[in-house]
Order: sequence, then C-alpha cells, then structure tokens
Amino acid sequence: MTIVIAHRGASGYLPEHTLSAAAYAYALGADFIEQDVVLSKDSHPIVLHDIHLDQVTNVKDKFPNRSRGDGRWYAKDFELLELKQLTEHERTQLDGSGAIFPERFPYGQGNFQIPTLQEEIDLIKGLNQSTGRNVGIYPEIKKPAWHIQEGVDISKVVLEILNTNDYNSPADNVFLQCFDSKELKRIKNKLNSSLPLIQLIGSNAWNESDDNYDLMLTRQGVKNISSYAVGVGPYLQLLYQTSVANNNIQPTIFSQFVRENNLLIHPYTFRVDAVPLAFKDFAEMVIWFSNVLNVDGIFTDFVDKTVSLLK
Ligand code: CA
Repeated sequence: MTIVIAHRGASGYLPEHTLSAAAYAYALGADFIEQDVVLSKDSHPIVLHDIHLDQVTNVKDKFPNRSRGDGRWYAKDFELLELKQLTEHERTQLDGSGAIFPERFPYGQGNFQIPTLQEEIDLIKGLNQSTGRNVGIYPEIKKPAWHIQEGVDISKVVLEILNTNDYNSPADNVFLQCFDSKELKRIKNKLNSSLPLIQLIGSNAWNESDDNYDLMLTRQGVKNISSYAVGVGPYLQLLYQTSVANNNIQPTIFSQFVRENNLLIHPYTFRVDAVPLAFKDFAEMVIWFSNVLNVDGIFTDFVDKTVSLLK
C-alpha cells in the first residue's frame, strides 16, 4: 500500500501550509498531512517551510525595517502575535519577482494566516472526529542546528506539543521527519522519543544540514540510517535512472539498499506541473513509483490526482 502525504497541505491548489490547504488536503483524501515547523521569537512552533518569511508572506510591506543584515526576514525575529498579522500568499521567486507556480492559486489573493502547529493539529484531529477518518500528521523539524544557534531547542518544543496531543508512539498515526541525522539520533536516543522517524535526503547543495547526503546513498550509509529511522524521504530523482540504450527507467542501487534494510520509502515531491523529463506525464510517474518501485508513500502537492491514480 502506498500512503499519500499532502506536501505542505494541498499546496497545488492553495497557498502552502495554510489551514485552508490542510483542510482541502484532508477533503481530497490524504492519508497524512505534512507540517514543516519553525519557531517564533516567543518559541511557538508555527507551520512554515522556511526559517524566512519573505517568500510566502507580505512581511516586507508589514514590517519593512525588520530584516537582518542579509536582507531576509526571519520568523524567529517575530512574536506569534506579529506573525498572525501577516498574510500568506503563493510562494514567490527568491527575488520576489512573481509566483514560482503562476498557474496555481492567484498570487496575493485570499486572506490566509500562518497557523501554529497546535492549530493545525486541532484542525486534523477535529476532522478525524467529525468524519470518522484517521488522517495522520507528518511534522518536519526545520534547521535544528540553526535553531540551537539562535538559543532554542526546536525538537524539544515540538516533541512536547506532540506529546500533549497524544502523538507519542508509532501507533498514533504520525511520522517525524528531519534532514539532520544528528538531530534524529538525538531525538531517539537523548530525548527518548519512540515516534517513527524519517531521514530526509537532499542534495548537499541545499545546505539543509551539515550531513553529507552522498554518503547516505551508499550501502553503509543506508545501514546507518536503519539504526535510528524507520524510513527515508529522498527526493524522487535519487530513486530512478534512465538507460539511454533502451530508454528504460530503472531503479537505482540506492533503492535496493533501502529495501535490504527494510526501511520505508517516502519520496518527494510529486507535482502535476513539474514532472521530470524521464516520465511522459504525472500518471506514468506515479504508476512507476507505485508499481515498479513499490514505494510506501508519496509526498505530493496534488493529493486528489495521486489518490485516483493509486486506486
Ligand atoms: Ca518538508
């Protein structure tokens, strides 16, 4: 079975990580809804993909003088009450020159606020009661080493909130994900969490942590991951290669290592409007990952289209 994980909510249809996007992802049939988590100045966990605010909110207009020396606005510099005054919009290019996906929800329209992690949990748990379904949460701890530099232990804060909401064991329909292997080991061994952990794997160029992701792709690297995590979340290009000879798509050796170690595979990100060239279209991509690779989960911006293809 392949679970469908709503990547930043129903982000193909509504601005990412808004409560509207979470509710819509729920309605479209997600099995899990993702929450990227960073801390506010007063240490409230909020659902936001970046430690920065400028690509998804109107912070530049609302608080023009509150950027740091690097010209970026940081969530960590604002109290929750200030963050709540911001309006969220479709993600823009880094230089602010328009939406990254201009065909998606109209840029700048609507009245969307940044939710706290607690507000999003309340929404999902509330819907679980009113619908009788059991949709899970899938929080990601963002930049734990950076948060420590800023004087806060984000993992502790997030684990406390999860515990308060009765997410404390593998049976509670939750996965906890992070790019930082040291932090995942700390969560398991020092903070004594029994939550199922997912090691995210990115490209070294993204600077997500000081991990060397190339080493994680080796047989030994994957074995190491299996000592603390139940699965991996690689970007989808790490799982296939195309052979020029017969124009065939084949699994990479990395995907074999993952299977040898009985780890779950939850690749990201499946987008109707950004299908890699190796695949004819979105349907071919989803079906290949599901039928050939037998992935255990799919992070997607388009829950409904993924759910209907998996049926
Ligand atoms: Ca994420």
